[in-house]
Order: sequence, then C-alpha cells, then structure tokens
Amino acid sequence: MNKNETILQANDALLHVYNRFPLVLDHGDGVYLYDTDGKEYLDFASGIAVMAFGYNHKEYNDALKAQIDKLLHTSNLYYNEPVIRAAKELEKISGMDRVFFTNSGAEAIEGAIKTAKKYAYTRDGHGGHEIIAMNHSFHGRTIGALSVTGNEHYREPFNPLMPGVKFADFNDFESVEALVNENTCAIIFETIQGEGGIYPATEEFMKKVRALCDEKDILLILDEIQCGMGRSGHMFAWQGYGVKPDIMTSAKALGCGVPVGAFLMTQRVADASLVPGDHGTTYGGNPFVGAAVEKVLELMEREHITAHVQKIGAFLGEKLDELVEKYDCLSAHRGVGLMHGLVCNKKVGEISAKALEKGLIVITAGSDVLRFVPPLIIEEKHVDEMIAKLSEVLDEI
Ligand SMILES: *Cc1c(COP(=O)(O)O)cnc(C)c1O
Repeated sequence: MNKNETILQANDALLHVYNRFPLVLDHGDGVYLYDTDGKEYLDFASGIAVMAFGYNHKEYNDALKAQIDKLLHTSNLYYNEPVIRAAKELEKISGMDRVFFTNSGAEAIEGAIKTAKKYAYTRDGHGGHEIIAMNHSFHGRTIGALSVTGNEHYREPFNPLMPGVKFADFNDFESVEALVNENTCAIIFETIQGEGGIYPATEEFMKKVRALCDEKDILLILDEIQCGMGRSGHMFAWQGYGVKPDIMTSAKALGCGVPVGAFLMTQRVADASLVPGDHGTTYGGNPFVGAAVEKVLELMEREHITAHVQKIGAFLGEKLDELVEKYDCLSAHRGVGLMHGLVCNKKVGEISAKALEKGLIVITAGSDVLRFVPPLIIEEKHVDEMIAKLSEVLDEI
C-alpha cells in the first residue's frame, strides 16, 4: 500500500479522534524512525515519552520474544514469576511498598483514585469524599481520570463527571489550602506537568502540600506517568524533591512500548484501603508485561540512565536556552532532564509539521509549547542534529 492509500484507509476504518500527521511509520532503530518510503526521522518524542531505550533494542526485544514463547497470559487468579520480579524491583527503586499493574496510565489513575476513596471510607465509615486536582493537569481520558484533568475543553462534553473534584492552581499552595475541608481525601498532581505545557512543581509547593497532607491525613497522589522512569534525571521526579507521595502512578516508559501502567502505595495506605473484591483487571500484570517491566528496570539500572539523563538533559537545556535567545518567536524554555518545553508565539502545530518535512519528530503540549521528550539514550550528536533541523524550521517561519 502506498502512503496516501494507507492514510485513506485509516481515515475510513479508525475512529476519527486524532488529527494525525501524514506520516506512516514502518520501523525504528535507536533514536531514528523510518516511514514506509524509507525516509529517516530523528525522534524527539519517543511515542509520547514511552520509548526510553529507543527502537529495536535487541536485549529488550529478545526478552519479550522469550516470554512470548513461554507464557503470555494467565489472569490474576494465579501467580506468575515475571510480574513478581518486576514488582519487587519497582518497589526497590521507588521506595513504595505495594503495586498494582494496569494496562494504561489512565487506568493507573483510576486505581489511585479508588485507593484514596477507599482509604477515607475505611477511616471515616462513609463515602462522599473529595479530591483536589490542578488546573492545566492531564491524567487521562477515562471518566475518573478525566474528572481530575484540569482542562475544560476535554471535560465539558462529558459532564457530569465524577463528583467531588475541585481544581487549584499548580504551584500555588494557598489555592490548594483554600479548597481543603473535612471531606478532602486526596490531592493529585503531576510532579512535572506534561500535557499542560511542561511545568515542574516547585520545591516549596511540594513540601507545603506534603506537610498539609500529613497534618490532615490527606493522601498525596503524584502522577509520574510522563515525568517518571528516569526522565527527570531521577527515577521518579519526586525523588529529586525529598518529598514522598502516599500513592504514585506510572505508565508510558514503564513498559517501553508494551502497554502497562501501575499504581503504587505505601504499606500504611495498602493496609487501610483496597481489599479482595475492591479492584481488579484481566490483563494487568500478566507474564508478558511483567517480563517487559523487569527488563526495562534492569536496563535502566545497568545503563545508569538517571546519570545519563542529568548530563545530556543539561546539554539539551543549554541548547534550547540558546534558541530562545536567538529567535523572537520563542519566549521561554522550561524543563528538567529530558522533559523540556519551548514556549512559542507561532503556531506550534505548524512547526512540528514543518519539522517532519526536515526529518525531525517533535510534538506539542498545550496550545503554545513545543515539547521535547526524546528517548533517554540520546547523545550530544543527536541534540546537535535536532537543534540544526529545528533552527532550519525556525529560520523559515
Ligand atoms: C499520558 C498520561 C496519562 C494517561 O496515560 P494513558 O496511558 O494515555 O492512559 C496520565 N497522566 C499523565 C501525566 C500522562 O502524561
């Protein structure tokens, strides 16, 4: 099938909820992707912060193939070894005590919300609890996750959503404090807001919210789906603040392409929340995803991925700062590690479309931010290549 035919057929067969770029990707290798015409693209999006080790990573692929030949799925009615090894390792690197594996990020958020509600229900003997979320947050597209997503445009057609959610301003502690009442069971936010435009939490905000939660027995839920798994330069972004959540979520790079998410909690929360019958999943944590997570975590540790991200992330940050100085259309740069945004007063969708023509994949966040979430294995030469290609685009617009 040629490219145009593929696109026509896709438009005919798939539900139209994405305005896709006219690009039919065929295969990948390292930090490069190739379309069906053989054209090469430098990938600074990694399938939306998923492909931490890039494409066609031999050791990872071999681990998946070996598990496929052994056992794919069992259901959660029985034990399997790969997922237990993955769970132990994830708990070791996060310092959390209990994990539930899901099939996506949104589903991890659903589980986190249910855990917080059940914790408060167990303590108080009644329901009706409230959650405080943040404006400009993004937690996913299912009804529960959408209910805590601070984007009116995403929410409005689906109202009424889950009741009992109030929105504060991210990094504005007073706005959070003002919403707390005796029914508040959880405060949820992304340690670094992703879709909302790459806004890292301030240390002051993290510490004050943590203290407030401790004082009022409110659970702090940190969404690490995008900023976690090494992307911030720490395995989980909250580890860079010295502030630990009660519940955290993971997904995206957790499986590096295999659909898997997780919500984790401390023992204290596990002991006083979900019990058998409260929650479940057919696929979640099957042997296949267990093997994927186990290998991802093994590779991240062995390759010292956080140290690499800190180093290459600082280099990328400097280069993006230089772009902001050079181009009038760029007004700011935000980000840490390998999660960066450039604020732009030109149409960012046009910039990413033009970048594609030059063989560069970059995505956007919000309405005015170019987002850089490359594979974590990029090197300086890839940053230089990206900057050269992006500069060509910026010179032309
Ligand atoms: C992508 C994302 C989600 C939703 O994950 P899905 O796997 O798409 O359901 C939730 N929270 C954050 C911060 C995300 O970036």
